[in-house]
Amino acid sequence: MKKNILMLPGDGIGPEIIAEARKIVLCINERTDLNLEITEREIGGSSYDIHKKPITAEVLSIAKKADAILLGSVGGAKWETIPFNLRPERALLALRKELKLFANLRPAIVFDPLINASTLKPEVVSKLDIMIVRELTGGIYFGKPRGIKKISSGKSKGINSLVYETYEIERIAKIAFELAKKRKGIVCSVDKANVLESTLLWRDVVSKTHKKYKDVKLTHMYVDNAAMQLIRNPKQFDVIVTTNMFGDILSDAASMLTGSLGMLPSASLGSKSKSGKQNAMYEPIHGSAPDIAGGNVANPLATILSVAMMMRYSFNKNNIAKIIEKAVHKTLNKGYRTADIMQKGMKRISTSRMGDVVLKELIHLI
Ligand code: NAD
Repeated sequence: MKKNILMLPGDGIGPEIIAEARKIVLCINERTDLNLEITEREIGGSSYDIHKKPITAEVLSIAKKADAILLGSVGGAKWETIPFNLRPERALLALRKELKLFANLRPAIVFDPLINASTLKPEVVSKLDIMIVRELTGGIYFGKPRGIKKISSGKSKGINSLVYETYEIERIAKIAFELAKKRKGIVCSVDKANVLESTLLWRDVVSKTHKKYKDVKLTHMYVDNAAMQLIRNPKQFDVIVTTNMFGDILSDAASMLTGSLGMLPSASLGSKSKSGKQNAMYEPIHGSAPDIAGGNVANPLATILSVAMMMRYSFNKNNIAKIIEKAVHKTLNKGYRTADIMQKGMKRISTSRMGDVVLKELIHLI
């Protein structure tokens, strides 16, 4: 059966990095029985320029039907003065909301050849491999009441509400436990249950959900301690599961442990329907890097590694995912670097050449 991939290159370096990821997808298609079909559409500023909207109803409809989405990046100075609800970034929120992408998976992996890119000591981060599972559609970013309310003349109050319902916690906990089963089997649930009632519920529901996953070890940690432990001894973690806001902050901190923004992929997943279909969007964690857009210097590896995540989570092809990851490792081991990860004595290459080198390695491996 055909598998439809919707590619949304977007703005800035988006089209350059997606072009390299496309080479990888086409190669997999040629050499496996996956039967992939690619559709490509505009999103973000590039959609606004044509349609006066950051995402059209047509694209949302294709996205809902797609087996997987691969996004480049959106945004840039050109669109910073347009009305807030038409800004490029709104397209991402629309996709997350419409496709109910409630689970954000962000691995923080240190690649051996890039160990010196981290600001932490090599022994603290060598072989680091953490998966942060962030709840993406609930919590304080969506809870009501919210807003800025006038109290009296000259006085106002800002309100946001941290709201979680049992089902929202249960489904994200299940994702974390399932992931842990395929990894080292340890989940750390991060909350602030000593102060915030909704995360007291979080802790309770995660613990109850854990009863069905006896082969996984569960620990709980307060978010302030988790932030400290991530810097002190990050290798103690395997899977971290946490709320929307805590995950937002911790996943950025964790990604910076690796020191290479251009290397880290992500996945955002929805629930599985009765027919087994699961909405899923894959993207690099970095933005549209307007400062280097169009220069053929951006690092396409995070996007290529996002294709590996797609193979693993959407197409259940862990073997292909591993082959893509191996091709990236081999490329780095041979000394090829884009400007952002360039080190002394290594070979500096362009975006398109990096894609070609990974492709060559892939062809040897697949
Ligand atoms: P950014 O991630 O785009 O760039 C931060 C720095 O990292 C820049 O110096 C950039 O050149 C560099 N960088 C990023 N990705 C790189 C890559 N693949 N290769 C080499 N260098 C890379 O963050 P920013 O500058 O804060 O944001 C720029 C725009 O991106 C903004 O409009 C922002 O809203 C948007 N943004 C989009 C997403 C997304 O599409 N998911 C995420 C974050 C930011």
